[in-house]
Amino acid sequence: LSARASTILSALDIPIATDVPGVYDGTWGGNGDILESVCPTTGEVLARVQSASPRELHEALDKSKEAYIFLRKLPTPRRGDVLRQLREALAAKRDALGALVSLEMGKIRTEGIGEVQEFVDICDYAVGLSRMMNGRVVASERPGHTILEVPNPLGIVGALTAFNFPVAVYGWNFSLSFAAGNATIWKPSPTTPLCAIAVTKIIADVLERNGIPGAVSTLVTGAQDVGEAIVNSADIPLVSFTGSEAVGRVVGKAVQSRFGKTILELGGNNASIIMPDADLSMAVPAVFFGAVGTAGQRCTSTRRLYLHRDIAPPFLDALQKLYASVRVGDPLVGSTLLGPLHTRAAVETYSSAVERLREKGAQVLTGGQRYDQDGLRQGNFVQPTIAIPKSVDPADSIWSTETFAPVLHVGVFDELEQAIGWNNAVPQGLSSSLWTRDMRNIGKWIGSEGSDTGIVNVNVGTSGAEIGAAFGGNKSTGWGRESGGDAWKQYVRWSACTINFSDATSLAQGVKFSA
Ligand code: NAD
Repeated sequence: LSARASTILSALDIPIATDVPGVYDGTWGGNGDILESVCPTTGEVLARVQSASPRELHEALDKSKEAYIFLRKLPTPRRGDVLRQLREALAAKRDALGALVSLEMGKIRTEGIGEVQEFVDICDYAVGLSRMMNGRVVASERPGHTILEVPNPLGIVGALTAFNFPVAVYGWNFSLSFAAGNATIWKPSPTTPLCAIAVTKIIADVLERNGIPGAVSTLVTGAQDVGEAIVNSADIPLVSFTGSEAVGRVVGKAVQSRFGKTILELGGNNASIIMPDADLSMAVPAVFFGAVGTAGQRCTSTRRLYLHRDIAPPFLDALQKLYASVRVGDPLVGSTLLGPLHTRAAVETYSSAVERLREKGAQVLTGGQRYDQDGLRQGNFVQPTIAIPKSVDPADSIWSTETFAPVLHVGVFDELEQAIGWNNAVPQGLSSSLWTRDMRNIGKWIGSEGSDTGIVNVNVGTSGAEIGAAFGGNKSTGWGRESGGDAWKQYVRWSACTINFSDATSLAQGVKFSA
């Protein structure tokens, strides 16, 4: 193993040069297939991870059930105190864990560390929530009666997560699920098992110090079969799935068919709209970050850019200058802005997307190739690409599908209404952004005639959300909400409890029923 990789793995207590157990339910194990963790920057195999066998999965579920029975009795503010300790433990390992995210997933250092910070932030949020997960007292129409709306834990929450946020998405789910009193079982992406193992070790340590069963945060690494077993398990009332639309469609139907609940956080196809009165010194760098940051592998990455005709040429000139200046290379090096795509398969997807653009007569302004010079050839590096398709046709797959790579599609409009129409005409509905200084445009954009996405920004790019607001998208992005806002309410079962304190019975709506 390279020195850089072994330093990072050692700092997080991950075994080097032996197979790494990838299952945790209070004890570590793993008798299923071997998963290889491959560094996207160098192609180096970082570790062989032992995934969950069907039998282990079964046992892990049993342990999770027992852990839930323990946790549901722990007072909610006490759970909050454990989350406070977890935020400290995560903050202490922020740099090491952030470096592992860069090493295994491929995002640049500042974003890797930012992702760990997001977990720290959501722990803080859940600590506060642990004193505020309140129900309601409802006025009853019947004398001597009162009605309470009461939240109680659900049981086991399944978290199936994507490769591109290998730490933060579990953080969002675990923090709220734990505060609500649930055990959580995590199946991470098969290509980022080491991040999941490192996070689980940090959580397990805090749980152990507090005498809480480790299986309140169970880890089952594995591929599709392990995911399917969670999706189909009647023991898991809530499945929180983050991933592609294609898999989300299968997961959503399967969980619905057993009347389970889902939180679906699926693909995005996010647009930025630039009005002629926008401050270009802010808008151009924001589009650059949105489209090129994380090598275009955020669900909120900017994929469509709609420019008002009056400012299109200067905007594209300025944007191309930034693209030309991008520093590509090892994401662990502080000055790098563009790291690799996560897998070889993603490079193929990028290349076919560019080919399709060319076949359909799009003008490729910049990019379109792999980087194959020395130092980059071993990794999955691709040039960030700006393309102007022949026309804006939201029904064409160029515009209507998410290509998970740094490809930005540009269209030119004359009226805001036209651009809002294009923004809304695609199946996905995650994030969108309008750049203007005119209040009338802002009112239209955030109102009933405006953007139909779950995240609607003004003078802020499409990517880079804070944890305080509910995060998620509409339409084929799945309608899920996670993190802040009222998202916690999905992790509990709600009961309406009518209590009669009087000496007489009465029926609602004045119904009489006496012999
Ligand atoms: P993916 O759909 O390939 O995989 C997601 C997870 O599902 C993985 O853990 C995978 O092993 C598992 N899985 C695969 N098939 C399954 C099945 N049949 N049943 C159960 N589980 C199964 O997604 P990915 O390539 O890892 O991630 C990229 C996608 O995730 C992009 O589309 C991106 O937009 C989306 N994403 C969305 C959000 C959001 O909040 N909306 C956040 C991050 C990523």
